[in-house]
Amino acid sequence: WCPSGAITEKRNIKEVLAAIDDDTKHVVVQTAPATKVSLGEEFGMPPGTSVGNKMAGALKEAGFDAVFDTCFSADLTIMEEASEFVHRLTAAKDEIPHLTSCCPGWVKYCEYFYPELMHNLSTCKSPQNMMGATIKSFYADKMGIKPENIVNVSIMPCTAKKFEVAREELEVDGNRDMDYVLTTRELAVLLKSKGIDLNTVPEREYDSVLGESTGAGKIFGATGGVTEAAVRSAYFFATGSNPPADLLSWQPVRGMTAVKEATASIPGVGTVNIAVCHGLENARQLLDGIKASGSSKWQFIEFMACPGGCIGGGGQPKSTVAAQNSAKLKRIEAIYKEDTGSAKRCSHDNTEIQSVYKEFFGKPLSEKAEKYLHTTFVNRHDRLFS
Ligand code: SF4
Repeated sequence: WCPSGAITEKRNIKEVLAAIDDDTKHVVVQTAPATKVSLGEEFGMPPGTSVGNKMAGALKEAGFDAVFDTCFSADLTIMEEASEFVHRLTAAKDEIPHLTSCCPGWVKYCEYFYPELMHNLSTCKSPQNMMGATIKSFYADKMGIKPENIVNVSIMPCTAKKFEVAREELEVDGNRDMDYVLTTRELAVLLKSKGIDLNTVPEREYDSVLGESTGAGKIFGATGGVTEAAVRSAYFFATGSNPPADLLSWQPVRGMTAVKEATASIPGVGTVNIAVCHGLENARQLLDGIKASGSSKWQFIEFMACPGGCIGGGGQPKSTVAAQNSAKLKRIEAIYKEDTGSAKRCSHDNTEIQSVYKEFFGKPLSEKAEKYLHTTFVNRHDRLFS
């Protein structure tokens, strides 16, 4: 059952091709971490093949004006969300447990069935929409392009993201953050329609300004990745130092166990109890337990609607169930390999992130950051049942 009403996948290939052909439009594309370890499967490569730079090359060849990396805005999300979490732990304890908000399937589920917990949701937009808002503000200013002449496209593993981009709460000054979402499968169709073969296309770097990413941004695609990335930066924000080695390879939050539990010791903040949950049935059981007991033993809970996280999203390449389960594990393995192979492992060390704050947002949770990078939620339960 799809909580976002995206049971039938709506295709947006035609609209994106029309935008690329429209000379009055500046068409920008971003690619989600989970798509970079799965798109290759549509071109005959084994699951878990990392094709990020090939995808960047293919998108350039397809005619996009700029190719950015959602791993960059995952780092931006962590800057905001880790700051928000530390603030809640120290000064807004009624908003603990802190519930993650980067999965639109989970967010909509919470709005429908647990509206009393909406104030616990992080107000951070998802990486997709943080990128969209940054492109139509900071990047538009820098390039001298009117936001209305920019068309923002994302390549996502997710059908629920198509619902997310239509949320009215995500508009800033009358501009939608994002215009079109293409799933991994749709991108394969678009590339093939243009005769672009991922096997032979030259690799390209992501465009700068919004293209650099750290290992922390890359692991967003796997269940537990958001938590691990957030704890790395929360540790830094609380102590001024990067986390110790065990938090840079934090095994308790990794893997396919339905609900994973972990404890982090952060000097100055104390002991933080964390849960990581993937799959909405698991979410229901966990939340009903919290409601029944009247409290949460965890201060931070990550929720992802899809089993395995975004690597198992509804827009990913399809095969038999057994093959899909094996593919998910291979995709996760590839994501952690990219993380350990990254020169920088923490979002706050991303040089382009530091520049965006210096030149535009000021600091995490600033008034400007709140305007562009944060959102509100809707009580859909009351709308549905009143
Ligand atoms: Fe989309 Fe699934 Fe990822 Fe949620 S977990 S953002 S529904 S792909």
